Amino acid sequence: MEILSFLAPLAALAAPAKIDEKPTFAPRWWYSKRRLDARPVIWALANRPADFRWQTEGLTLVHTPSKHVFWTGSHNVGLYDAECSCSTETNGRFQRFQVRGFRRAVRAWRLAQNPHYDPAHFAAHFTG
Ligand SMILES: [Zn+2]
Repeated sequence: MEILSFLAPLAALAAPAKIDEKPTFAPRWWYSKRRLDARPVIWALANRPADFRWQTEGLTLVHTPSKHVFWTGSHNVGLYDAECSCSTETNGRFQRFQVRGFRRAVRAWRLAQNPHYDPAHFAAHFTG
């Protein structure tokens, strides 16, 4: 489509330029050094969903590349297990005010994992 070649610079502008750039998470002033920052996990749940899988459905979630296991149950959230010092130095707790965001990210991840039910398909069973 040479007739549209004048649009090429626009397409370059619209393309995501920083696709390989890793996000950084500067600590907030109120963060405790004895608590984990959940933001990188929340980011990974949204942007690299294939890196996670259930260890126990609804209860513990594994980040496969790093082998960090997270509690996601109704009673507790946080880091449950890791093969490094992350859990021992922090007791696995997230920073204050991060529990709700983590739960929301896990819920969104879980919904994205499950194939969506199709109302039209379901209705077709009964209406022919
Ligand atoms: Zn670690």
